[in-house]
Amino acid sequence: MPQPAPATETLREIIASARNLVFFGGAGVSTESGIPDFRSPDGLYAAQTAYGYRPEGILSIDFFEARPDVFFDYYVHNILHLDAQPNAAHRALAQLEDRGVLSAVVTQNIDGLHQLAGSRTVHELHGSVLRNHCRECGTPHDVAEVVAGASTPDAVPRCRRCGGVVRPDVVLYGEVLDPQVVSAAVDAIRTADVLIVGGTSLVVHPAAGLVNCFRGDRLVLINKEATPHDSAADLVIRAPIGQVLGAAALRE
Ligand code: ZN
Repeated sequence: MPQPAPATETLREIIASARNLVFFGGAGVSTESGIPDFRSPDGLYAAQTAYGYRPEGILSIDFFEARPDVFFDYYVHNILHLDAQPNAAHRALAQLEDRGVLSAVVTQNIDGLHQLAGSRTVHELHGSVLRNHCRECGTPHDVAEVVAGASTPDAVPRCRRCGGVVRPDVVLYGEVLDPQVVSAAVDAIRTADVLIVGGTSLVVHPAAGLVNCFRGDRLVLINKEATPHDSAADLVIRAPIGQVLGAAALRE
């Protein structure tokens, strides 16, 4: 058997000593499940060439209201990845929760993969593509109805009860985060003794502010690139998150 890298061994020790571990993750957690970051250079290029707008423009509430047909075309083809499966990072976090080590996952992702892996306490800062509701009457709709509605002649999913436009429970640009979700995420991070941050560069709001709420003993950062918090961390690992967390925490 190959010897584990020293950083992985240190992470294993930190996890073993944790009493109340919280994980905070970003887009990098899902890239190993084949979900590209729409803000990456490739994602940016794809949106610009196919639609003539930046992803942040299309995914804004103003754009949604003005051109829901274009929004849903982009959304269904670039944001929804309904065949994606959890990777080793998702599985490791679900196991840590089962073992009573991890108390919560805070995520910026909207793909529902943590829950698919078995995680139960997941604070989804930006919502979830798997939940959708009618803007007029609030009736919930599942994501299959959104996909089906986006391929109708007017290219907009409509409520089966009232005909109103159905939208994803995803925080669009220009909208505020759900204060209850933020509050639950802050509470989880503030009371954690170990915080593992992964797959996020921690430069975008609200990620940076949330990490500043941490008062615990050990801060671990796992990201392919440097982050502004690296100097404050007890352990920094520059490697793919699935590989690292899987090696440190997964029990087969
Ligand atoms: Zn309705």
